[in-house]
Amino acid sequence: MSALDGLPPLRDVIATHELRAKKNLGQNFLLDLNLTARIARIAGDLSKTDVIEVGPGPGGLTRGLLAEGARKVLAIEKDSRCLPALAQIAAHYPGRLEVLEGDALKIDPLEYLEQPIAICANLPYNVGTELLIRWLTPEDWPPFWSSLTLMFQKEVAERITAQPGSKAYGRLAILTQWRADARIALTLPPEAFTPPPKVSSAVVHLTALPEPRFPADLKTLERVVAAAFNQRRKMLRASLKGLSPQIEEHLTAAGIAPTDRAEQIPLENFCALARSLKSA
Ligand code: SAM
Repeated sequence: MSALDGLPPLRDVIATHELRAKKNLGQNFLLDLNLTARIARIAGDLSKTDVIEVGPGPGGLTRGLLAEGARKVLAIEKDSRCLPALAQIAAHYPGRLEVLEGDALKIDPLEYLEQPIAICANLPYNVGTELLIRWLTPEDWPPFWSSLTLMFQKEVAERITAQPGSKAYGRLAILTQWRADARIALTLPPEAFTPPPKVSSAVVHLTALPEPRFPADLKTLERVVAAAFNQRRKMLRASLKGLSPQIEEHLTAAGIAPTDRAEQIPLENFCALARSLKSA
């Protein structure tokens, strides 16, 4: 039986093209097109938006994005075995799907796209966090993308959206929430994927803020947060002493008690600390 979009069901696609999942490429496929369409809808109305999809695999989410009306999808896939299946989808949606074979960490997709641009992906777990950090830390803000709709391991999704006082709160929460609104939009059990991974997953939806939530120099903030959470159990006057001989004064100026620990400090105070250090 064919799927709603007239293309073959994903199980048949996988069998036809012999797409046995490879662990080293983080391949856990979504085969339910109702689910992939639901994920595409989390990204919002894409009819006037170009979408970057990292790791389309056999094309489940790609088909969801196209069926839900994305203006154009640029899909970057490292595994050449997936290309014939993706070519079949491209033929079904003339002019709306472009596929690049290669490593998303090395390809600059911007020359292929027009603004506005959204990113939507069921990310390979081995490169997901690195890509997210890259998308969040360009020198200039706002970035080239307007929203990110990304599947992560649930535990990573919780770190992205964590609030002060929780164990999950750290570098990912701060870098994300400094420049974006972020929420967990959907949680999925392992059985939603083929093959099932060991852990649950979650879709996180981020929208880029027009400007960072609080002023701060990016590099200084990154340095502060890296040092603070590298030794998260220590008092900040100890974990941050390498940043300045007057660290206690800077902490106090930023409204932080030198005996506080990183986990308790709201984003606003980390930004104030970065400003104080930068101006010294
Ligand atoms: N989007 C498909 C889905 O939802 O069923 C596949 C998702 S699977 C979790 C991750 C995909 O990313 C795989 O197809 C894998 O080959 C691809 N991939 C892994 N590393 C990559 C990289 N560095 N650049 C581009 N694609 C990559």
